Amino acid sequence: MAERCPADHVQDSCFGPENDISGPLHPSLTKSRSRTEVTKLVYIGGYGHSGSTLLEYLLAASPKVVAFGEVASVLRERGRKGKCTCGREVRLCPLWGPLLASAETLDGMTHERLARALVAQDGGAHAVLVDSSKTAWHSAAVPFSLARELGPDFRLVHLVRDPRAVSWSAVKKSGRRGTRPLMPLRSGSAALGWWVANLACERFGRLYPDRYLRVRYEDLARAPAETMRRLFAEILPGSEWRPGDIGGSGNRHQLYGNRMRSASLSLAEVKEDTGWTRDMPPAYRSLVTALTAPLRRRYGYD
Ligand SMILES: [Zn+2]
Repeated sequence: MAERCPADHVQDSCFGPENDISGPLHPSLTKSRSRTEVTKLVYIGGYGHSGSTLLEYLLAASPKVVAFGEVASVLRERGRKGKCTCGREVRLCPLWGPLLASAETLDGMTHERLARALVAQDGGAHAVLVDSSKTAWHSAAVPFSLARELGPDFRLVHLVRDPRAVSWSAVKKSGRRGTRPLMPLRSGSAALGWWVANLACERFGRLYPDRYLRVRYEDLARAPAETMRRLFAEILPGSEWRPGDIGGSGNRHQLYGNRMRSASLSLAEVKEDTGWTRDMPPAYRSLVTALTAPLRRRYGYD
């Protein structure tokens, strides 16, 4: 069970419409709600291409969880059209629709205020909200401000993956987009980004050890049920993660993220992507191997 705030005394660390979300709000966010349940915000940190969409997908197997995808991308790109992963048009999504009904609603809104607005919009229906914005470059500082603002109800899940796999995935993505491969540059850039994103999480873990958890993509992909049960026990003590609930879309509202967010996946289909060990040219593999030591070894990637 999620912790609860005393009904007559909403603590600073509690979310909800009782909290200050200063500035103009969409009318749907100003209606009063009676909920007092504490909702935890789980932020997935780390670099891109590390399996955050898979982790978010598996977290959302629990009906206690609501997944919002990459919230930072919503703030950055605005004006999202098309469908939410809940299956509705964005404007009809009960969680994003009111927030994105007008271009002005997000004006001046910080990541922290948007997180609070989303939880207010959820109205206490879920015990855990997941934001998979990660900690690359412009988002590296976000977990720190969220932790300061939200207190003990914030958790950072630091997702790490072998930097050679990350780098190769980034190179392949640029190829799919039709841009010139520039492999040495892209490999090096991904290695640097991997450092920045992971060091941000490492620093967070030193500052807030009780709000920090680390998961390796390889462990998640090789033993998803076991890894998720362990993780879930830390995030929501007393709650059980059940693989049979995977794939329900009623609690997934991801506007941005890997294409997998829209797929239907069963636990048996979760497989580690090891294509880089076969396809990555040795020269670039050596380059990333050299650039990422010793942090790479800290996570067990020899
Ligand atoms: Zn939705």
